[in-house]
This record gives sequence, structure tokens and C-alpha cells, in this order.
Amino acid sequence: MTNDISCKVLVVGGGPGGYVAALRAAQHGLDVVLVEAAELGGTCLNRGCIPSKALLNAAARFSEMLECAGAPVMGMRCEAPTLDMPELMLWKSGIVAKLNKGVESLLSARGVRVIRGWATFSNAKTCRVKMTDEEISITAENVVLATGSVAASLPGIDISGNILTSSEALELADVPPSLLVIGGGYIGLELSTVFSRIGSRVSIIEAAERILPQFSSNLSKPVMDWFEVQGVPIELQCRVEEISQSAEGCEVSVRAANGEVTVHKADKVLIAAGRRPNTDGWGLENMGLDFSGPFLAVNQQCETPMKGVWAIGDLVGEPMLAHKATAQGEMVADIIAGQRRKFDPIAIPSVCFTEPEIVSVGLSLADAESEGLEIVTGRFSFAANGRSLSMGKSPGFVEVLARKSDEVIVGVHAVGSHISELAGEFALAIEMQARLGDISATIHAHPTLGESFLEASLQGLGIPLHSV
Ligand SMILES: Cc1cc2nc3c(=O)[nH]c(=O)nc-3n(C[C@H](O)[C@H](O)[C@H](O)COP(=O)(O)OP(=O)(O)OC[C@H]3O[C@@H](n4cnc5c(N)ncnc54)[C@H](O)[C@@H]3O)c2cc1C
Repeated sequence: MTNDISCKVLVVGGGPGGYVAALRAAQHGLDVVLVEAAELGGTCLNRGCIPSKALLNAAARFSEMLECAGAPVMGMRCEAPTLDMPELMLWKSGIVAKLNKGVESLLSARGVRVIRGWATFSNAKTCRVKMTDEEISITAENVVLATGSVAASLPGIDISGNILTSSEALELADVPPSLLVIGGGYIGLELSTVFSRIGSRVSIIEAAERILPQFSSNLSKPVMDWFEVQGVPIELQCRVEEISQSAEGCEVSVRAANGEVTVHKADKVLIAAGRRPNTDGWGLENMGLDFSGPFLAVNQQCETPMKGVWAIGDLVGEPMLAHKATAQGEMVADIIAGQRRKFDPIAIPSVCFTEPEIVSVGLSLADAESEGLEIVTGRFSFAANGRSLSMGKSPGFVEVLARKSDEVIVGVHAVGSHISELAGEFALAIEMQARLGDISATIHAHPTLGESFLEASLQGLGIPLHSV
């Protein structure tokens, strides 16, 4: 049976871009249909941000208990802990399920019609959705494409069996005795952190000269050092040539920069070689839209060259991050409702949830120099921060960059345990075009990690208090 429906706004993809666009459009009183083939919440909630952070937190607790089972830590000693992996996975899935339910309830409360199925477009404003027992044809005045991204593979390598992407790694029922991670970006390193902490022998292969190339080297170095202390080898400038698998596990041929080929053996291989926009299999070729490299091309309003067809999130470019997708989704809904808006944030925070964590917002020193800006910097080390010391965590720092001419903050970069919680304050400072003096004059609660931002700003002003 085929049903035809029409609506003011059709959103395809229920990830953090799409479901937020649907919520906001409905809040504006528009008639909204959201089509999602899998679970609401998209990659982020089901196979990305949330399950990975849940496992990171559990793994950190487990490793703290392990530490106490060796020599006493802070005067505490405990029995050697054990890990029930299926129970851990159930706990993680419970968090995901709770949030799925939350998204579903919000959409329902705002009157969004949610259709479960795969959308295939026949032209820019019409798609068909196949469900179990019927097929629906949907025509919309406005179409918001939010189909997200999928894990990129390596040429000639089939993801199957013991060769995994992050999606399968986040669902493993057992801790693999050994895991070879291909890719030293944030996804590969976050999952390396999880599995090395819960008992896998992890090693990492990275093609570039260093891990986390999107962050400056003074931020990635403490993470590299942490893996070294954990005994996780990282081989840089190495390229995977071939992966074979048998009942005994996987064999991975890796070519080093000097041309030497070595064979690594591991029970499981995680391919974390980046992500690519999801542009296949849903009739994009019938919509008359343009590409910008692998991404769908959009203007500053996230509109494609086809009037009334919008695209957001991972589908339209870097940074492929949930909060960017959400901000674009909200904006597009506002524009469809008649508001004048464009997507021009001064900065989008990037966070890497390794140990220590990294936050980078705004211009790096190299960016500022290439823009010809004269910069003053201020830095404060967590070695002198009471909160950091009392948490017994690894060292790190907050560095603030400001224009010399007017002391307006253009970049904040930090590395340290739990520093991700300050990403919002850093982004707010940059977005509000705060000066160093605004931060140093803001009373920060004591003892908190946030005081380090204040202290770094004081240092930038040349009047440090708790540093020289
Ligand atoms: C392991 C991992 C960890 C991550 N951690 C973080 C993090 O800590 N912070 C962060 O900001 N980002 C993180 N990300 C990235 C983040 O998940 C993405 O940037 C974000 O999900 C993109 O949102 P989106 O709405 O563009 O697309 P997605 O979340 O990918 O959602 C797209 C949705 O569209 C649906 N869909 C696609 N095509 C169709 C179709 N034809 N019909 C119907 N439905 C369709 C899909 O089923 C999917 O649910 C992580 C990603 C991974 C893989």
C-alpha cells in the first residue's frame, strides 16, 4: 500500500543535526516530518559520542581500581577488580536507550511526525520511505538533509569478522586480548584508551607524523606520553598494506616510512581511519545538488543551490562534530520559519576525550601567525592548580591567545584531566569577544580547574598571581 503525505518541513536523518532541526521547526509551529532509518539520536547517541564516553568513564574507574589493587593509592588499597563485559555493555546500552527515549518523547511532545524507514529521493522535494508493511511518498516545501556520515574504510579492506569499525568496537561482548588500532585520530585514541584500560594489549598505527594532527603538538604530546606510560606502542608514519584474518586472528602488513614491511598480529583490528559523509544509496543523484569535495555543497545558510533544500551536519563538511550539526539544525529551522540567520560562529570547540583530555577553541598560534596577527599568550599549568592536584590527575595547562592590539581572546587551548568541562567557558569567551581583562576580572570559584583560565589570562596581561 502507498500513502502520499505532504508537509512544510521534511527532515531526513534523526541525528543531533536532524532531530534538533525537527524540534526547532515544530517549535516554530511548522508541520514537520522526520524520517529515520535506525535509532533516533543518530551516530552520536547510538554509535558515537555517548557510548564512547560511557565506556571511557567505566574504563577510567576500572583502571583506578586496578591501581589501588597494586600499591596503595592515596592510602587506599583494594582487592583486584574484575570486569563483567556483558554487564558493562548493558549499562552503556541503558544510557543510550534512556537518551533515545528522551529524543522520542521530545519529538512527540512537539508534534513531529516520526517515520521509521529509509528515505530515497526521486527528486529534490520528494522521497519514498519503505517501512515493513507499507511505502510512503513524502513531498515537502522544505527538505533538510541530515544523513550524517559513516566510517571510512581503507582501500581493499573489508570490514567483517575481527576487522571492526568504531560501531562494532562499541558493541564487543568480550575484551579482546589484543587490539590493533589503525588511526591515531580522536576516535582511534579514545577507543584505545578504553580497551587498554580494561585489559586489551593495544597498539596503534598512524600514517601521519604524529597522532591527533588537528591539534597542535604541545596538546597532543601529553596524550602520546600517557600511551607510552601505559605501554601502548604507537607507530607513526606507517601505512597498512594488507589485512588477512583466520581463526587465529588478524595479520596486518604495515609499511614504515623507510619502506620496511612488518606483520602485526592481533585478535581484533579497529579501523579508525576517519569518516566520510553519507551520500550513497538515498537518491542524492536525483536531486540536482552540488558537491564540495566529498561533502554536499551549501551556502552560509546551509542551503543547497536548490531553493528550499538544506543540508547540515557531517554531510556538509568539517568539523564533523555533533555540536556543529546541532547548531546548523537549529539555524536552518529558524531560517525556514522566516528568521534571518547565517552560520558564522567565531569558533567551534574541538575536544578529545583521551587521558589527559584536550580542548581547542579558536585560532592556534600557527593560525594567528598565518593571519598576520600579533599575539600575546598566557599559560597556566595544572601543576599549580589546587583542584587538579587534589583530584590526583596528570599535569596539563591552559593557554590563552589574545590579539596584542586590544587583548581580545582569539584562541584557548588546554590539556588536562576533565578539561572538556571547560570547553563551554572557552567558547563563550571567544564568541563574546572577551578580553583578557574580562576573564581575569570574572571571579572564578575556588578550587576549580576554571581558575587556570583566569590565571592564564593574568599571565597574558603580564600580571600573573600564582605563576612567575
Ligand atoms: C566513535 C565516535 C565518537 C564520537 N564522539 C564525538 C564526540 O565526543 N563529540 C562530538 O561532537 N562528535 C563525536 N562524534 C561525531 C558525531 O557522532 C557526529 O558528528 C554527529 O553524529 C553528526 O550528526 P549528524 O546529525 O550530521 O549525523 P548522524 O548522527 O550521523 O545521523 C544521521 C542519521 O541519518 C540516518 N539516515 C541516513 N540516511 C538516511 C536515509 N536515507 N533515510 C533515513 N535515515 C537516514 C542515519 O540512520 C542516522 O541516524 C563521534 C563519532 C564517532 C563515530
